[in-house]
Amino acid sequence: MDADAPAGARSGPGDGRKKLLVVGAGISGLAGAWWAREAGHDVEVLEAAEVPGGRVACVEHEGDRVPVGAQYYHRCYRDVTDLLTELGFGDRFQRVGHGQRMVHAEDLFDARRATDLRRLLSVGGKLSALYFGMRYLGPGKRFPSHELRADVPAMDDRLLSDAVAHLDRTFGDTVVRPTCRGLAQAEPELVSLLHYVRLANMQTRTFSIPGGTYSLAEALADRLPVEYGARVATLLEERGRVVGARLEDGSERRADHVLLALPGQAAARVVPGALGELKANLESSRHGAAIVPVFFLDRAVQGGFANYLDTDPDRPFAVGLDHAGSTPSGRSAVALFGWGRAAEPLVEASDDTVLALAMEQLGRFLPDFNPNWVVHASVKRHPFGAPRFPVGQYRRNWELQQLAERQPGLSLTDARGAHQEASVRRARWAVRNELGHAR
Ligand SMILES: Cc1cc2nc3c(=O)[nH]c(=O)nc-3n(C[C@H](O)[C@H](O)[C@H](O)COP(=O)(O)OP(=O)(O)OC[C@H]3O[C@@H](n4cnc5c(N)ncnc54)[C@H](O)[C@@H]3O)c2cc1C
Repeated sequence: MDADAPAGARSGPGDGRKKLLVVGAGISGLAGAWWAREAGHDVEVLEAAEVPGGRVACVEHEGDRVPVGAQYYHRCYRDVTDLLTELGFGDRFQRVGHGQRMVHAEDLFDARRATDLRRLLSVGGKLSALYFGMRYLGPGKRFPSHELRADVPAMDDRLLSDAVAHLDRTFGDTVVRPTCRGLAQAEPELVSLLHYVRLANMQTRTFSIPGGTYSLAEALADRLPVEYGARVATLLEERGRVVGARLEDGSERRADHVLLALPGQAAARVVPGALGELKANLESSRHGAAIVPVFFLDRAVQGGFANYLDTDPDRPFAVGLDHAGSTPSGRSAVALFGWGRAAEPLVEASDDTVLALAMEQLGRFLPDFNPNWVVHASVKRHPFGAPRFPVGQYRRNWELQQLAERQPGLSLTDARGAHQEASVRRARWAVRNELGHAR
């Protein structure tokens, strides 16, 4: 234990073994705790909720499980894939995401069929798509999707809506706006060009595991010492170093290192005022809320997994996913995703109101839909859904990362990337660089 380490931490003398206190049992906190323990350290995980997973969540009905947070993994995920393999899921990857349908002007299109796409885009639209790909998406491949490497002002200081304003409208309305709503969970007027390009470039083939993404969180939580109902009120700081945390019940936990595995806005609440710059940066971050109604049906509708995108910007639910291909019963279970401007009025609405609106929109995705098919329905809410990425956010994130790396006793997993891989990667970085291997 080094001389500055806090009293009460249980590290072994001279063996390099440290105690890691993890705040948050979402996928990044669990991953950090897992790798720290694999490296020979002691870990303790504090979770405010009564279940693990955070934004990796599921709803279950008669043995069919539907993810109502993170839906699937992308082939480009490196650290999450390692984690899946280490937890024994390596030979059970299931491909998902092959059916892509778009609702546009009351018609349903197959987004993967060239003939359908030709109907959606005018000649100008196709040329605009080509231009956008060559001008932004191609060059943008050098900015990694899951980590921050440097400031990129040319794309970070530009709104996506400005970048496409002079392009053909059919391209903006049927490609950019709906995909931006689907990927960034916000409208192009609120998203920097850089964020959209990073998200679009990470759209590799998708996969999941039996029971969905929650199965990984569950498997990790089962193997780790997680204390539930343990909400941290503030981190403890002594002479500039983070030495532990105080819980809302007044009890304190000490450790050699703290991994704060919360979304930025939640992290801001527990970072003490003494860490002023770090706290101010976190306070400036914003997340949008996400509302996810889910319907279990008495039949398989289209067959297999289908992903529906609604191009109407005034509809509250931008995306719908039918998990029929992965439910043990083979029946459809459709989750709808409400976020952004059109869904804002639903944040305060009752579940009944949300379900009624969702049911109405479900009829757009499933043309012959009959409400009598619904055997069970529920609503999941994420107060901190996806991080907002307005212009300049990438730079603020880059600054945050540098501030956090200089802060003794503390690491953050909030990378303000939009996906699991980004925060899991930060957790792994923290374990490798701040704890190392115990001898
Ligand atoms: C609707 C939706 C769909 C998504 N789809 C995908 C997808 O398909 N693929 C993908 O890779 N990613 C997806 N994401 C993103 C992904 O879910 C997140 O990036 C990831 O789950 C974040 O994990 P985390 O551990 O960093 O944070 P979180 O999951 O937010 O975990 C934070 C945890 O900390 C706890 N907590 C909060 N405050 C305190 C406190 N004071 N004390 C103690 N505990 C506290 C919370 O209860 C929570 O369990 C989606 C997100 C949403 C909302």
